[in-house]
Amino acid sequence: MYKIECDTHTHTLFSRHAYSTIQENVMAAKEAGLKLLGSTDHFSEMLFPDYENIKNYQYLLCTHMWPRNWDGVTVLKGCEADIVDLDGNMFGHDISVYKATIGDIYDTPRNLQQMVFGCCDYVIASIHSKRHTIGASLSQTTNMYIKALENPKVFFIGHIGRAGVPFEMDEVLKVAKELHKPVEINEHSFGFNDDNESICSNVAERCAELGVGICVNTDAHISLDIGKVDKTKEILENIHFPEELIVNRTAESFLKGLEESGVFTLNK
Ligand SMILES: [Zn+2]
Ligand SMILES: [Zn+2]
Repeated sequence: MYKIECDTHTHTLFSRHAYSTIQENVMAAKEAGLKLLGSTDHFSEMLFPDYENIKNYQYLLCTHMWPRNWDGVTVLKGCEADIVDLDGNMFGHDISVYKATIGDIYDTPRNLQQMVFGCCDYVIASIHSKRHTIGASLSQTTNMYIKALENPKVFFIGHIGRAGVPFEMDEVLKVAKELHKPVEINEHSFGFNDDNESICSNVAERCAELGVGICVNTDAHISLDIGKVDKTKEILENIHFPEELIVNRTAESFLKGLEESGVFTLNK
């Protein structure tokens, strides 16, 4: 059985349809025997109607107060940003912020995405709403994923199997390999649709053939789910997935992966 020491796609109360605090998640990670937790709340239209109001995003901007080593668990700060167009742009890229949290007007407006990404160690790029992909060709959706992956803050695409947007898998995997970025296999996908199991199995199998790393995550929306990836492990075992390609098998391997991709280096 594989041992996976990091959960790098998890949500807190900030995501609005998630139910635990960061502390509850860290404690759950510790109890599950994890060494590293990545907290990656949604950064998306699904949060607040008032997009340009920075008051809504204070939570993501002040995570510097979280201890890096929280009761023995290394805590990384991230977000899960929605891909919003076929150019692979993510939420906030075109949103200007005019006022500071306290209400003072900025001399020059600031960019919402830069403000939030600047406070993140890494970003997960995900598709939730598919409305911008309706009628798109395979080359357009493939390009969308590649462009998102090329963003210097993005470490991996979230639940690429579950998103349900057809694309040329090999093209995206080739770029992931070149950029030293993994492909996520997301445990949370399996409750949604019976097909997801075989889709994720196919993705993992192709990763193994091409030598692309994967990242096995829960996408937990409640602390009870942190670190529970039994279904994914079963799928990986069935295809004899090579353990050394699981980027988040240890804290060291995950941090090394982040560093090799140029996304983030943890100063010790
Ligand atoms: Zn969610
Ligand atoms: Zn998520």
